[in-house]
Amino acid sequence: MINQGNISIHAQNIMPIIKRWLYSDKDIFIRELVSNGCDAITKQKMLTPDADCDWRVNVTVDEQAGELRFSDNGIGMTAEEVEKYINQVAFSGAEEFLKNYEGDDKGGIIGHFGLGFYSAFMVADKVTIETLSGKDGAQAVRWESEDGMAFSMSEGSRTMRGTDIILHVAEEEKEFLQTFRVREVLKRYCGFMNTPVYLDTVKEDVPVTAAEGEEVKPEEPKAPERINATEALWLKSPKDCTEDEYKSFYKDVFHTFEDPLFYVHLNVDYPFNLKGILYFPKLTNDFGTREGEIKMFSGQVFVADNIKEVIPEFLMLLKGVIDCPDLPLNVSRSFLQNDGYVKKLSAYITRKVADKLCGLFNTAREDYQKYWDDIHPFVKYGCMRDQKFYDQVKSTLLYKTTKGEYFTVEEYFAKHEGKLGKKIVYTNDPTRQSASVAMYDAEGVDVVVMDALIDLNFLSFMEYQGGVEGLQFARVDADSDTFTRDQTEDEKKANEEKEADLLNVFKAATGKEELTVKLAALKDESMPALLTQDEQGRRFGEMSRIYGQDFQMPEMHTLVLNASNAVVKSLMSAEGEKRDLMAAQLYDLARMSTRPLEKDEVTAFLTRSHKLLEMLANA
Ligand code: ADP
Ligand code: MG
Repeated sequence: MINQGNISIHAQNIMPIIKRWLYSDKDIFIRELVSNGCDAITKQKMLTPDADCDWRVNVTVDEQAGELRFSDNGIGMTAEEVEKYINQVAFSGAEEFLKNYEGDDKGGIIGHFGLGFYSAFMVADKVTIETLSGKDGAQAVRWESEDGMAFSMSEGSRTMRGTDIILHVAEEEKEFLQTFRVREVLKRYCGFMNTPVYLDTVKEDVPVTAAEGEEVKPEEPKAPERINATEALWLKSPKDCTEDEYKSFYKDVFHTFEDPLFYVHLNVDYPFNLKGILYFPKLTNDFGTREGEIKMFSGQVFVADNIKEVIPEFLMLLKGVIDCPDLPLNVSRSFLQNDGYVKKLSAYITRKVADKLCGLFNTAREDYQKYWDDIHPFVKYGCMRDQKFYDQVKSTLLYKTTKGEYFTVEEYFAKHEGKLGKKIVYTNDPTRQSASVAMYDAEGVDVVVMDALIDLNFLSFMEYQGGVEGLQFARVDADSDTFTRDQTEDEKKANEEKEADLLNVFKAATGKEELTVKLAALKDESMPALLTQDEQGRRFGEMSRIYGQDFQMPEMHTLVLNASNAVVKSLMSAEGEKRDLMAAQLYDLARMSTRPLEKDEVTAFLTRSHKLLEMLANA
């Protein structure tokens, strides 16, 4: 039985399409051939469900022979089937099987997944199929082709049911004769397939010459290595999974020793088939450099990491697996972008994540607070990226104080009722701003820490889009309201009259042209002055710096002088050098409670302090 011919292609010429992949994802041919083997086994299992068989797909690397072989003990093919499913490329054998198979169990047939069998020609200069169908009286068939265009068929050599696909690997593709390379590809794409997959290497026969008197021991052949040893945990029903299973799955898949914080198990059949587990990882780095990893699967076959058309961008900060067997993931990705089904899917994933956060917040607030330090950049980012997500999780947003307490906006408002209005006082650098923080502490006002990179944006987001009427964030040095008492009209008028003169004095003493001076009544009489910086202006400046704008915003500072403080009073009547020294010193002291002095400022401050002490000594 010899048969030669050309492969007939009904729909379109597939080879050019296959060759186009040559430069990108060449290694997917391994995925295709292994999935065909799994399909063949699944089909056989459906036909003979009770068969006791060691079902497996074996991948063998034989460097010496220049071959990569894929063997399965599945359904096999008759000569007619080879003719139909291999030679006439337009048929998908998988589809046809399901049409003819009576039963509603799809059994996880992968079928039209990607390029299919012909992807073998991306790396092979000859492909041989040796197959024997399980049908009664079927004969073994050999099929061979060098270019995927012309083939020959003859009597085959297989004696057991199943199929071998033998690739004679092309000279330029020798990497696929390296076990480690094949293992890497197998682990990536086939690590969770539903049929056992093994990798085997044919050892080179190296002649072993023994030293005199020593016994020659031939090397033990290594047993084939199981590729998909980890169970696809996401397919199990959540109620059957243990905490330990979730954790060890996480460690296995993401190669880490760390436990995740918590996870969301997605498990729906309707209106779409979606299974997966999303993990919240511990925060390891700064937010900016943090990269999540979401592996997309289609029916347990890995497709790609972080497919942005399906997974909402902010969820990419998580780690996990998502399996959507019904998504045409191998079709053009741009198609996915506008697909209604994909949008629903993506919205569903987001909602489940939000539900998890709300659930934790409502039933395990303590735990939630423990996680907050790690998850807050993610949650905040999500809020800014997705209004719906924000609406769902807004009541779970926490603000951590410098003392390690956690408040929601409402709780913070309630705690400071009558003191701050709708203001939240924060620090973006608890160490450098510790003196200002201490001043608020003394007034019984909690200062929240907003020192993550994302916080600068998040503050503004909350004020403009947060939907909390009147909410305003003010850094510890944004204003002096908490520390002043109301002045009478007369006091005010008297103070205003002196401000212009004082301004000139301070400008001259400090050289700060953009300075403003205000005379006020501070509650603490021993406190001579405070330096404040307009919140919006300062944020704008920081924003421009972050986004690399060249121009420098001048620092708009207001020096709030305490009208009833003795030093301030004495300064107002002082003259000459003494007045300038006092003014400069007051300014620096006020400055130091908002941030430490810079190098040059320290030098000036010390020199001036010495002079002042000298004056005091001589007075
Ligand atoms: P698809 O998997 O989408 O059907 P492929 O090109 O991958 O497309 O395979 C074409 C057909 O060839 C399969 O549907 C199947 O009928 C047959 N086939 C391929 N590999 C095997 C195999 N290892 N065992 C049995 N049949 C196979
Ligand atoms: Mg296939």
